[in-house]
Amino acid sequence: MGGTLTAHEVKAMLLHVASRVADSAEVLNDADRAIGDGDHGLAMRRGFETARQELESREYDTVGAPVSEVGRALLLSMGGASGILFSSLFVEGARGLSAERCFGSAELARFLTDGTGAVEQRGKTGPGGKTMVDALVPAARAAAELRAEPLDNALPRVADAARAGVEATKDMVALAGKAKSLGERSLGFADPGALSVQVMLRAMDEYVAARQRA
Ligand code: ADP
Ligand code: MG
Repeated sequence: MGGTLTAHEVKAMLLHVASRVADSAEVLNDADRAIGDGDHGLAMRRGFETARQELESREYDTVGAPVSEVGRALLLSMGGASGILFSSLFVEGARGLSAERCFGSAELARFLTDGTGAVEQRGKTGPGGKTMVDALVPAARAAAELRAEPLDNALPRVADAARAGVEATKDMVALAGKAKSLGERSLGFADPGALSVQVMLRAMDEYVAARQRA
């Protein structure tokens, strides 16, 4: 038991994330159809299907290893701008976890802080641009504030922060990605990449909550 996850449990949590992303493909496509080219759910489902296959084929010693495995799988299979960005989130977010054997709130905060920084750098975008960064930044901030809390207390609030970030993208004009060309016409719609971040964090929360009850 305890408040932290083993490397094996992080793998199981990421498999649950893969399954929730697949379940959300239509919703993500719809969001991308409104302000992009309608393929975001397909790209995410393809990426996480590859990640699932890789995760299922081995066991891991550290909590960073399955996280970076996901990042490599996304880079190989997703394609497009978001493939590089979601890959960076996981690969760079895992760097500070490469020697860790327990995943708790402090490790969640490190993952989100490092991963978000990498996405901002790669995408040349900051908060307010109507991208995945607008869900990641509030989630990373919440995780940093909650780093002393047990993981099952922190994750629901981190996922809520991401959801609030998604809501906020509806009032933003896109400054990056395909939606940028729409200008003011992007107003009123949520950013699909931000929605994916929310789906992933909610799935992590679900896994940890179910484990806690078991
Ligand atoms: P594509 O643009 O290749 O069709 P997707 O439809 O899979 O990619 O993903 C689009 C999402 O990628 C956007 O909703 C946004 O969140 C994210 N995105 C695109 N460009 C950037 C960027 N420069 N910085 C941060 N996020 C970005
Ligand atoms: Mg797209």
